Amino acid sequence: MHTLTLKPTKEKSLLRRHPWIYESAIEHIEGRPASGATVIVRAHDGRFLARAAYSPESMIRARVWSFDETEPVDHAFFKRRLQRALAYRRAAVTNTGAVRLVFGESDGLPGLIVDFYRPAAAPDTLEQAQLVCQFMAAGVEAWKSAIVQALIGVTGCPNVYERSDVAIRSREGLEQTTGVLAGAEPPETLVIDESGVLYHVDVRHGHKTGFYVDQRDSRLLIQQHAAGREVLNCFCYTGGFSLAALKGGATRVVSIDSSGEALATAQRNVASNGFDAERATWLDADAFKALRTLHENGDQFDLIVLDPPKFAGSKAHVERAARAYKDINLTGLKLLRPGGLLATYSCSGAIDADLFQKIVAGAAADAGVDIRILQRLGAGVDHPMLMAFPEGEYLKGLWLQKI
Ligand code: SAH
Repeated sequence: MHTLTLKPTKEKSLLRRHPWIYESAIEHIEGRPASGATVIVRAHDGRFLARAAYSPESMIRARVWSFDETEPVDHAFFKRRLQRALAYRRAAVTNTGAVRLVFGESDGLPGLIVDFYRPAAAPDTLEQAQLVCQFMAAGVEAWKSAIVQALIGVTGCPNVYERSDVAIRSREGLEQTTGVLAGAEPPETLVIDESGVLYHVDVRHGHKTGFYVDQRDSRLLIQQHAAGREVLNCFCYTGGFSLAALKGGATRVVSIDSSGEALATAQRNVASNGFDAERATWLDADAFKALRTLHENGDQFDLIVLDPPKFAGSKAHVERAARAYKDINLTGLKLLRPGGLLATYSCSGAIDADLFQKIVAGAAADAGVDIRILQRLGAGVDHPMLMAFPEGEYLKGLWLQKI
């Protein structure tokens, strides 16, 4: 096994159990480990620090598998990690057919995402359930077949689909790829039940693995506060928050997205749930413009959701993204009646919770309104936050009330 030796003092982050080893921290690599090969990481003085997966092209040159000197990286290792991840979800997640089973670094499996979908029509069997994976680092790519085998063994679900069509793979020197890894082709329409609402999940073509699993808690929050309210859902995608609002008894739900395809699925979702289509309006439009038009027309809402795509892909885009977040939150606040509720989000990793709050505070100041923070929001418990890995907290939300 190859050894990777760090520069003096560069062991500090690993001693705090942070799993990334940057190229710039490395003094010496013995030999030429292949992409994804397991390497031993040592401090400058030769002390063992970790076993890690080597990624020759990435700035994050290695990602830690284990800080335990006695723990080898083999089939049993992956089985243990997956068992641990599954046991945690079994205890923590209820009332849903969509669960994030593996959340990368936060589950000790750097670069691996696995979502589990159980169709509402077949709640008692795993034969029609679906696992959807994203392999986003050289290490998990190299161990793909072992991981798939372990996943099937640990979950009992025979169907595994890959959605590694993510740009981030290029940083690891990997091509984008999708397809069946085990079992059957995913069905054309997989419908899951979450908190009593049915959602279509398009495993093959949908965003991420087909569904925004991470917003489960917030969907329930909206469902619980929608009764008798007029709701605006901006960047609605396939209607997650809109359906939750309809289920919760909203009198009117206006939803905006620039993807006609997503809106078509959203309308199918309304029909599947048997909701009254009259209560829902779908605007195929640019949200920045549509929000302004609604405001110019004097429209007002009691509950607004702003859940945009990632505006800042990296640190370089933070300023531009901040302006975009401020823009939608400013108009959003103007559209809100006094006493109204706003759920506003950022899923940009490069914008932390403090900065996001400052941006929204700036929007409130410009709108000349007082708002109170009712709650800070984030991804559900199946996206665990590892103390040593704050990067895992990518989704930040604020649950606000206009005074
Ligand atoms: N809130 C959704 C997820 C949002 S994903 C959910 O909970 O399921 C972001 C969505 O924003 C995508 O559906 C994309 O089509 C849409 N989008 C991106 N840019 C947009 C724009 N300028 N105007 C309107 N919609 C936009």
